[in-house]
Amino acid sequence: MAPVRENRTLRILDAAAAGNYGVLAAIAYNIEQLTALVRAAESRRSPLIIQLFPSTLRQLPTLAFAAAQYVKTAAVPISLHIDHAQDASHIREIMQTLPVDSIMVDMSHYDQTENLEKTRKLAKECHDCGIAVEAESGRINGGEDGIADTGDLEALFTTPEDVEDFIKVDIDILAPSIGNIHGDYGLTGPAEGQLHYDRLESINKQINNRVLIALHGTNDFPEDVMKRCIRSGATKLNVNKLLLEVWNEFYRKNAAAMPLVKLIDQGMDVLQKETERWMDVCGSSGKA
Ligand SMILES: [Zn+2]
Repeated sequence: MAPVRENRTLRILDAAAAGNYGVLAAIAYNIEQLTALVRAAESRRSPLIIQLFPSTLRQLPTLAFAAAQYVKTAAVPISLHIDHAQDASHIREIMQTLPVDSIMVDMSHYDQTENLEKTRKLAKECHDCGIAVEAESGRINGGEDGIADTGDLEALFTTPEDVEDFIKVDIDILAPSIGNIHGDYGLTGPAEGQLHYDRLESINKQINNRVLIALHGTNDFPEDVMKRCIRSGATKLNVNKLLLEVWNEFYRKNAAAMPLVKLIDQGMDVLQKETERWMDVCGSSGKA
């Protein structure tokens, strides 16, 4: 078994950290979106992390294998990541049955002590399978598809102690809570002062290359906010609606009238173009 450091997701992110650019970690819900994301990566010569939700693994059991086939055959570095895996038995099933490169072991709905203990145990098991591990420190508010909403739990900003605690339980990628939310910020993006760039910068300094940084909650981000987060130390940019909204909008407008094959083709084109634009923004274009 190759050491986890040679893991595909970590190699992609190590190169991004060394080169001061960001890599899109893009959610796909179906084969069309998956295909469009990979086409964008190849046309822009950009690395890419494909993300699937645990709920999608249940809904479309073959999608992970399609993604893994792209990981194997694409002309650029691509890896397959499972986002927000919150159920220990599902995480174990994923490790044992699916060709994934990395998993977000998200125990953030437990209190800190339990979160750390469960994360430590699952991280060890993932590493034994060559799978890299991401974890969320602090608590990012909101909920996404199939993910336990943090509900009335209070959002907690990541503290320096949190950072050390999570590094100690041997994770590879840290997703800090710096004012980012799972959900919509509104048309113009995060309000002035909502994202704590200084906190992100000091977390990055403190980490000093021991782990990599993932940024969650990028819906409605303007380009300059994305760039600023990357400059402040985020290398893995989790994107969902930020890319997919153009695809949703295209389907909303055209699904009733357009023949299916044409709808599929043009929908993929729309998503590919939007993905290419964000690869340019993140600075990953031309880096593969
Ligand atoms: Zn997230």
